Amino acid sequence: MSLNILPSVEVFTNQLAKSSSLPRALITGFVRSEVAAWRSLLLAGETSTKEAIETDITSKLKAFSSSRLQHVINATGVIIHTNLGRSPLGERVFDSLRSVATGYSNLEFNLPGGDRGKRAAYLETALSCLLEAPAATAVNNCAAALVLILRTLTEPDKNEVIVSRSELVEIGGGFRIPEILETSGAKLVEVGATNKTHLRDYEKAITPQTALILKVHRSNFYIEGFTDEPDVKDISTLAQQHNIPLVEDIGSGAMMNTEELAPLDHEPTPQEALRNGIDLVCFSGDKLLGGPQSGIIAGRSDLVALVKQEPFYRAVRCDKLILTVLQECIEEYLRTQSNPTATDIPALKFLQTNTANLQKRASAIISSLPKELQSNVCSEPSTARTGGGTMPKSAIPSIALAIQPSTIKVNHLAKALRMGSPSIVGYTEDNVLKLDLRTVFPNQDQALTLRLSEALSPLSNE
Ligand SMILES: *Cc1c(COP(=O)(O)O)cnc(C)c1O
Repeated sequence: MSLNILPSVEVFTNQLAKSSSLPRALITGFVRSEVAAWRSLLLAGETSTKEAIETDITSKLKAFSSSRLQHVINATGVIIHTNLGRSPLGERVFDSLRSVATGYSNLEFNLPGGDRGKRAAYLETALSCLLEAPAATAVNNCAAALVLILRTLTEPDKNEVIVSRSELVEIGGGFRIPEILETSGAKLVEVGATNKTHLRDYEKAITPQTALILKVHRSNFYIEGFTDEPDVKDISTLAQQHNIPLVEDIGSGAMMNTEELAPLDHEPTPQEALRNGIDLVCFSGDKLLGGPQSGIIAGRSDLVALVKQEPFYRAVRCDKLILTVLQECIEEYLRTQSNPTATDIPALKFLQTNTANLQKRASAIISSLPKELQSNVCSEPSTARTGGGTMPKSAIPSIALAIQPSTIKVNHLAKALRMGSPSIVGYTEDNVLKLDLRTVFPNQDQALTLRLSEALSPLSNE
């Protein structure tokens, strides 16, 4: 097959650049590598036409362009959606970022003395206050926090970490407790059975090589039936008797009783973990806490101090942007402690929205659609979830727009909504596209209405 059906990189790039907002150099590079791939295919005997090749490259460029990190309307009803960026930040929290991000700051500078200051000292005090903990600090994420704690509290000849077999969790994204222990130089000592672990199981496993006892919250699954586990207070007493630290990875950091916000299970809070005798607790900053990606460590002052002295701490410390946002987020909690409904944290607002309110918004959206499209859309009860590997049993009653397009296929409509701007991600159930309003910000309703009418009009569909 002749190679002259290959488009010229220069000419075709010019053409694509007219309708793409990507930097020109990126389009050129993309076209060059796609043309090269087509050249190999043609040389290997593949047949095609100039038009087909151009259409192929154009659609691949569109897909590549859509992979650019961008704003998405989450209409899945999953509040902490790992693939959609977990917890959104509150407006007040985010506004604090601008001046620190675009200028200099007192990151490690002591303003009264004019000399070197301690990084994150204010944040650590605010965290301790909120978490009712003697000391606290923050690192990159909860996985890093756990690795750091394990590295700090184990030594080559004292590296056994006791974990119940019912808590050998896999979280997702490659986070598995046995593997985390291995990378941290710890030796896993499993105790108990999948369904039952007794205090004596922990007791029997203690040796002179025991570095710590680790508890891990079963974030994303539950066990039911013939199950049992010892009271944390009893494990704590045992650990104290043997002078072994007791650490808990609670995964998500709920600051309030989740069962009071919505029909949810009780998610363990760091405050109660510490009250029950956990020496050191770690959790994520961007799950139920609703802050930036981070991992928070709190508990005994001597242990937090050791963690901060471990050289690995330097490798996983937070940057100034995260520290600023986290500081604001923690202050938000401290300010709204007595009145959680006043919170600026979107994840908590979404949990608390009542369905009557969602129903009103659904009706308003449907009635603002062009008359001829309204019959394609109705509203119906749906089920929202917290997501992010938290409270797997919780089903939050919600309201979704249910869309059965008359002129296009459901999967085409779903794709059209995902690929436009702003992108809208819903889910398909029984060949009906559902857009759950619990996770849609009220100020996105208008954009959603516009995009929906665009995507549903027969004229706009390719
Ligand atoms: C989510 C989770 C983690 C990982 O948290 P990241 O902040 O994503 O690193 C660790 N442990 C548990 C129990 C979790 O639920």
